Amino acid sequence: MRSLILLLLIVPLLGAFELGLHPTKISSTVTCFLGKPEVMNTTNNGNMVNSCYIATSQGYVVIDSGSSYAYAASAYKAMHITKELPVILVIDTHVHDDHWLGNGFFVAQGVRVLGSDDFAHNSRIDSPTRIQTHISPQAYANTIPTRPTEMIDHDTNLTFGTTKLQFHLIPTLAHSAKDLVIFLPQSKTLFAGDLVFNDRIPSLLGGDINGWIGALEQLQKYGATTIIGGHGYKTDAEAMTMTYGYLTHLRHAIRNALHAGLGIEETMNTVTLPEYKHLKMFETLHRSNVEAAYRTLEWEQ
Ligand SMILES: [Zn+2]
Repeated sequence: MRSLILLLLIVPLLGAFELGLHPTKISSTVTCFLGKPEVMNTTNNGNMVNSCYIATSQGYVVIDSGSSYAYAASAYKAMHITKELPVILVIDTHVHDDHWLGNGFFVAQGVRVLGSDDFAHNSRIDSPTRIQTHISPQAYANTIPTRPTEMIDHDTNLTFGTTKLQFHLIPTLAHSAKDLVIFLPQSKTLFAGDLVFNDRIPSLLGGDINGWIGALEQLQKYGATTIIGGHGYKTDAEAMTMTYGYLTHLRHAIRNALHAGLGIEETMNTVTLPEYKHLKMFETLHRSNVEAAYRTLEWEQ
């Protein structure tokens, strides 16, 4: 009898990869899973990205569905340990696959998923996905790349119970072609997606340094007291300081190099920004960031 009970307990877990996400309470209504400041690999298995859920009187609103089916399933389980509420909406902040490959889990349950219309142009749903080639096959199991069920091309507002949500699309290439930010005006909480990194160096690959700095200057006007980025543990009013500082220092140094007539190789060797060297992923990303920014800024000459 005891072995039968044990079997009944174990069988449902077989085949279901347990990512073991840990919720961090940010405020009375916002809880987040803050991923490790690392590149995706077979150790973190995609737990290297931030996602959150907002408790409203109608149900949970999820910000980013995460890097896989297993990620979304683990988030869902943790949410329901906190409080039994239905998930009424998932929002995808941008097209990079570590943020939305969990969509399939929620769409299979009939949940509405909202993202920008950039998903129609720039999200890759063919295999293998970037995440798939970096995490273990067990962790990726059951993941079906699924675009949002609703793609918006303009700013909008939604209200669930008494919770107001403002959606703002960044109209120019910044971190991605069309980053979507969500602001809760009542609690001054800003979900900035990958426009905000901290605890690690951001990646400029596929982005635009001028557009990104401009977007952060727009976000600064919100006066948010809680800011949750796509990567990093810091969630207070200063959470965007590191990204803004790094990008503006980088732009300043590269403009100086361009004025001095330096080529791209020389610039990559001299713009070393040692004040950011202590941050995670500096060695992996900084040189390629210099290259990406140089390619944009050389056109200003
Ligand atoms: Zn991204």
